[in-house]
Amino acid sequence: MLLLVLNNFCAMDTEGIEIRIKTPVGDMDSSVDCPSLLSFSDLLVAIRDVMPETTITAFEYEDEVGDRITVRSDEELKAMLSYINGQDIQYQEQLGHGNGGTVYKAYHLLGNRVLAVKVIPLDITVELQKQIMSELEILYKCDSSYIITFYSAFFVENRISICTEYMDGGSLDVYRRIPEHVLGRISVAVVKGLTYLWSLKILHRDVKPSNMLVNTRGQVKLCDFGVSTQLVNSIAKTYVGTNAYMAPERISGEQYGIHSDVWSVGISFMELALGAFPYPQIQKNQGSLMPLQLLQCIVDEDPPVLPVGQFSQNFVHFITQCMKRLPKERPAPNNLMDHAFILLYDDGNAEVVSMWVCRCLEERRAQAQGQM
Ligand code: ATP
Ligand code: MG
Repeated sequence: MLLLVLNNFCAMDTEGIEIRIKTPVGDMDSSVDCPSLLSFSDLLVAIRDVMPETTITAFEYEDEVGDRITVRSDEELKAMLSYINGQDIQYQEQLGHGNGGTVYKAYHLLGNRVLAVKVIPLDITVELQKQIMSELEILYKCDSSYIITFYSAFFVENRISICTEYMDGGSLDVYRRIPEHVLGRISVAVVKGLTYLWSLKILHRDVKPSNMLVNTRGQVKLCDFGVSTQLVNSIAKTYVGTNAYMAPERISGEQYGIHSDVWSVGISFMELALGAFPYPQIQKNQGSLMPLQLLQCIVDEDPPVLPVGQFSQNFVHFITQCMKRLPKERPAPNNLMDHAFILLYDDGNAEVVSMWVCRCLEERRAQAQGQM
């Protein structure tokens, strides 16, 4: 078996990675397309291209203390790529803090791009860490313009860092009272994003305004969907409380399905339209987790309805359908896409959202300057 040392060799970008192979006769470079789809055998082929005269069955890389780690399988290769991705990240400002962890804006030097890195402290065994990493693998396959792009995840000590695309408009929870013609375009993106996830048999499980992100290009993308049961469970052990956007059946501990995501779409858009949480007796202070008893009114009462007159009939109907108390009465994915409110705004006009995001950011900047 010939062992090669690959050293400081990755520049992650959408086109591929550059591999620098250290050999006794000098460095050789090779590039590999689509690192997320890279298999161990692909990499061996790339190495053979550079060194055709040798037979290679494994290679090594050096970790931060100079220890050599051998790579012989797809799994060990994934660990290597995650390790590399953890290098060369410069953390910038904190973007926000949720129930599970803290999100930072960061710059990936080698990849030459801005990232959002969510850091979640987790005191779990190495076995569980491995399970989480393999459950997160499905994120590499997610490819939709309505879903945040996942770059990589890695564990350092007792923290997991999840690197994704950065959205310069942030999340919708900080925008107050969004006009209906803007909200219409945002709803189209959210419904398309969810339909995509559902087609992959992924339930979002945490649909709420803070998990809907926007940027100045007018794109709207979903984040923080629950692909790793183990990650969700590990976070839930530290943070107790019930999410105020959860459907009544979830609050009462019943089964969860696509229809529960649909409820959360309804209540989120109702809040974004009104500029206030639709149940006035529920005061959300920090975050969206509440003691279970405080959310009992969502189970007991008739769902709230948007005031007709202030909003179009289509919009009021859309929200009312999504917020039916009985899950089966809520629209299924196809019916959601075909709803008149969605059809009306499915015109591909990103400019409306873009202009609105830019204006809001400008106002926020002016306000912050005024306060200084
Ligand atoms: P929860 O922990 O229950 O999901 P949350 O969504 O408010 O609550 P985080 O997911 O930790 O908390 O996110 C914190 C904040 O970081 C968000 O509200 C959002 O403003 C910001 N944020 C998260 N991801 C990104 C991103 N990719 N680009 C820009 N800002 C982001
Ligand atoms: Mg979130």
